[in-house]
Amino acid sequence: MKAKIIWLQGVTCNGNSHSFLNLPSLASLLQQFEFLYHPLFPSPLQLMDLHTADFDILVVEGGLKQGWKKGDKDLYELFFHLAQKAKKIVAVGSCAVFGGVFKEFDPTITGVLFDKTKKSKLYEHFFNKTVNIPGCPAHPEWIAFAIENDSFSLDEYHRPKEIFAFTVHSGCTRNEYFEWKVDAKSFGTKEGCLFYEQGCQAPFTHGSCNRILWNEINSKTRSGTPCFGCTEPTFPKTGLFHTKTYMGIPANMPLGVPKRAYLTITGIAKSFQIPRLTRKLIDEN
Ligand code: SF4
Ligand code: SF4
Repeated sequence: MKAKIIWLQGVTCNGNSHSFLNLPSLASLLQQFEFLYHPLFPSPLQLMDLHTADFDILVVEGGLKQGWKKGDKDLYELFFHLAQKAKKIVAVGSCAVFGGVFKEFDPTITGVLFDKTKKSKLYEHFFNKTVNIPGCPAHPEWIAFAIENDSFSLDEYHRPKEIFAFTVHSGCTRNEYFEWKVDAKSFGTKEGCLFYEQGCQAPFTHGSCNRILWNEINSKTRSGTPCFGCTEPTFPKTGLFHTKTYMGIPANMPLGVPKRAYLTITGIAKSFQIPRLTRKLIDEN
């Protein structure tokens, strides 16, 4: 028998639903799981039927806010009721995990277990059955991983370590430029690292965007866009295309790297001018 899923939305832009619908293996996932309710695709149940539904997994997309209603349904109360019944809760997207973008406009919005870095009021109720998959949006293969598996090793924010133990920097095709401290001179170029001037947060952001590629093809940093750090509780920051520096040194170090070690290594690397890395690789003119 197929495991049954209810996909509930709080305060959301639908981004994680759209991301999930791009899952390359969606057809095979649907052979094992049945969506009793999803707000965007035809489902056997409607929102008003969910109170009495018999199901296994509750997927939550969007931030939670007390008193938030859809029609006459109080979604916060409905979430609490369903969360008590669920065998597993999967919070997808940074809004459902930390409060996310919508929290910038309404500070009362929280994630399921976390309110930015702090534990939410719901933490004690549901920490033992919730898996968090942050991202803006969350990667479809990360969502599928959380739906399809039952045993996880989780980090301090309840993110599966299989996906979030790495930084987004790991696997980026620009690592060679990072090592030799060669900057991307402008946004969208093929050459150079985006850490020094273009705001890339990948060296201190947990995620697998450069290991599990988007659409099985690409990632932000491979295509020349800085990582915005969307899997962290600090997201969103301002100045996403600009690296904050103090006296020319990036304000945020790569995760776990002491500033002194970073300055020593980069000082040496920068003293070598490697012509192959400082010129255009393909379009010479
Ligand atoms: S662009 Fe970002 S992810 Fe890629 S090597 Fe530079 S810092 Fe790392
Ligand atoms: S590259 Fe960074 S901003 Fe983009 S999806 Fe991955 S973690 Fe989020």
